[in-house]
Amino acid sequence: MHILVVEDEVVQARVLRTVLEKRGHTVTVASDGDRAWRLLEERHFPLVVSDWLMPCLDGPGLCRRIRARERAPYTYVLLLTTKTTRDDRLEGLRAGADDFLAKPVDVGELAARLEIAARILTMQQALHDRSRAVDEANERLRRQNTRLTEMNAEMEQFASVACHDLQEPLRKIQVFGGRLRAGYGDALGARGEEFLKRIEGAAGRMQALVRDLFQLTQVDQVPRPFVPVDMGLAAREALTDLEARLEETQGEVEVGSLPTVTGDPLQMRQLLLNLIGNGLKYHRPEAPPRVSVTACRESGADGTEDRHRITVRDNGIGFDERYLDRIFQPFQRLHGRGEYEGTGIGLAICRKIVERHGGTLTARSAPGEGAAFMVSLPDVVSLPEFQAGTQQS
Ligand code: ADP
Repeated sequence: MHILVVEDEVVQARVLRTVLEKRGHTVTVASDGDRAWRLLEERHFPLVVSDWLMPCLDGPGLCRRIRARERAPYTYVLLLTTKTTRDDRLEGLRAGADDFLAKPVDVGELAARLEIAARILTMQQALHDRSRAVDEANERLRRQNTRLTEMNAEMEQFASVACHDLQEPLRKIQVFGGRLRAGYGDALGARGEEFLKRIEGAAGRMQALVRDLFQLTQVDQVPRPFVPVDMGLAAREALTDLEARLEETQGEVEVGSLPTVTGDPLQMRQLLLNLIGNGLKYHRPEAPPRVSVTACRESGADGTEDRHRITVRDNGIGFDERYLDRIFQPFQRLHGRGEYEGTGIGLAICRKIVERHGGTLTARSAPGEGAAFMVSLPDVVSLPEFQAGTQQS
């Protein structure tokens, strides 16, 4: 170990150098605190053995300077002193000394103290290495995270442009399909009509897919401010959009007393539209759908009731909870297109909306026993983009 001995008495310094070099250490001697400090600024010494009383900068003063350096590797300080009172020891400890040795120095005791110093320095080095490894790993993670966020944004941007550009050719397929039927329907014959229907059906499905995909890419991109949203009103608005499905299925939706939450009104409406819409869609063939939307207070992680739980429950076909995670992934469907129309994106949109609002979305179900989707939302959302508005638009 390279040891810095700080001693103004020449004889004492020589004795210390001899003893320490005999034990295999490399020794540099400084004749006072100021010289020692200059050396310490130039290079690192893991161990400083310093006299207490010296002209100008004394032992405790040198110690304080060493401790005031931030981020430097640890320097163990052993103070040599004739001072033995409690107050002296306290002053040395407060200055940041690690250990004391009474003068005149006893060689055996010095060796024992050096062993303690070596043990502590080894542990200190291990800690330092570990913390550097953790810092490096954190930095790598931070860089990867930034890259992932950028890639995610690029992907969303790409998907959103692709969706936009796909709309036009799809509209053309629909329009020209209609014109073909109107102008040349007779010439097509039954087989031709069947092909045309299939083309239109496929184009319609693709339109729905492109529309849903576009909505999925838009969830995090809309810069609308968060405002108080009356969820009861959002549910009633969603029901107007579902009138056709309600009529077609003879379904009924009961909306209980719902809270006002902080959020994006259009996204909250979209959330309820998708959940209630699914409740109506995935109904048992023999029973018309019954859907209820209810709310209650819920405790967060700290036990305070600062969340709202909104539950959308139906009496439909249900699903096996083994597939719970799957249904929130885009394009994942548990029921075939032949049985129930859909794109498999609705619940992915719901989860993204809820997470953007600092909430969670999950479900309980069993095959044939209906399903319940639970949205948990915090009272107040503290997202960076949160800006309190006054009225729901
Ligand atoms: P889509 O309805 O377009 O298929 P979703 O993302 O809304 O897409 O739903 C994913 C899948 O989850 C559905 O295909 C269906 O299998 C299942 N699912 C969703 N809601 C219900 C529900 N209320 N009851 C039973 N299954 C459901």
